[in-house]
Order: sequence, then C-alpha cells, then structure tokens
Amino acid sequence: MKIVCIGRNYVAHIQELHNEMPEEPVVFMKPDSALLRNNDPFYIPNWTNDVHHEIELVIKINRLGKNIEKQFAHRYFDEIGLGIDFTARDIQNKLKAKGLPWEKAKAFDKAAVLSNIFIAKSDLENPKAIPFKLDINGVRVQTGNSELMMFDFEDIITHVSKYVTLKMGDLIYTGTPAGVGAVKIGDHLEGYLEDKKLLDFMIK
Ligand code: ZN
Repeated sequence: MKIVCIGRNYVAHIQELHNEMPEEPVVFMKPDSALLRNNDPFYIPNWTNDVHHEIELVIKINRLGKNIEKQFAHRYFDEIGLGIDFTARDIQNKLKAKGLPWEKAKAFDKAAVLSNIFIAKSDLENPKAIPFKLDINGVRVQTGNSELMMFDFEDIITHVSKYVTLKMGDLIYTGTPAGVGAVKIGDHLEGYLEDKKLLDFMIK
C-alpha cells in the first residue's frame, strides 16, 4: 500500500505558511514505513527541532482505479479515518528554499499517524461537512471541516488517479487546516472526527 498526501488544501493553512494558492492539488507521498498506529507514542527524531502536527482526514481506497472520473470517484472509498501528517518544518523549509523534494521532512519513519478506527461514510452525520479537531494537553489547537477543502475527496481521487494507479488499501491524507505548530516531548495529542476520539497518544 501507499500513502498519498495532499498539501495546501485549506485556505487558512496556506495563508499561515505564506504559501501560494494551488491551481490543482499539491501531491506528495509517504512510504508504508511512515505509518504509526495503535496510538503508539511518537518519538521526535534527533535531526529536527521543529516537528509540526498536521491533523487530517484520511480516506481509504477500496478498489483498484486509474483515470477515475469525478462522477464515479465517490465509489472508490467508503470509510474515513483520522491521521497526523507529521512534518519536520525546519527541514522542509530548507528543502523548499532550494526547490528540492520534501521527502526527508515528510516521509520519515512514523511520520504518518493513523487511527485504527475508520468511520463508514454512511455513519457520518454529514459526509459533505465532516468536522475534525486536534487537542494538545487539553487545549484545542486545530479545527477543520471537510466542507472547507479547496479540493474535495472526489477531486483528489480524480486528480491523483490521473498519475498514479490507486489500489485497495491505499490511504489519502487530505490536507490540514490552520493551527499547525511544533510538538514537544511530553505532549498528549487527542484527535477527534465528529465527536469520536480516534487518536490519543504521547510525544516522546
Ligand atoms: Zn499535511
């Protein structure tokens, strides 16, 4: 399986990092070695001082697809989970400044936190407006809602599958809302999709 991630998908987050508004989805990937599940602790690597949390909705691809048309894209996922796209912002900023790929900042081991629980679309209150949020040490730091995405789930599936075949079990992290910031040792992270707590783990 592979992990596809979308960058710059929420206007307020684009503005907080002073990035350009994208005309099409910004796509990058993480390897399967980046997964961190079971609410296991996240260990800050010793080569960065600035790992940022990015809470994101994650869709799980349920069948093989290539060049998927938008009208059919909704058939390619039926569950939504919650993840954190951990990002070594210091490393990413250096790479961005040189126009280099972001992998070292984004694809490192355990940089893709994923909830064990996924929610069926049919169990969501409103599949077109899914609220989610992240608390650190009991303080709300990020709130998002899928209705604020520049590119919705179907746009993303259509766009990505033009370039990369999607397979059953692939994950797509769909971008983070505003409020990103650094984590530190001892932090307690709790992530919610609607009112369900799907992430609950420590930074070490
Ligand atoms: Zn992200």
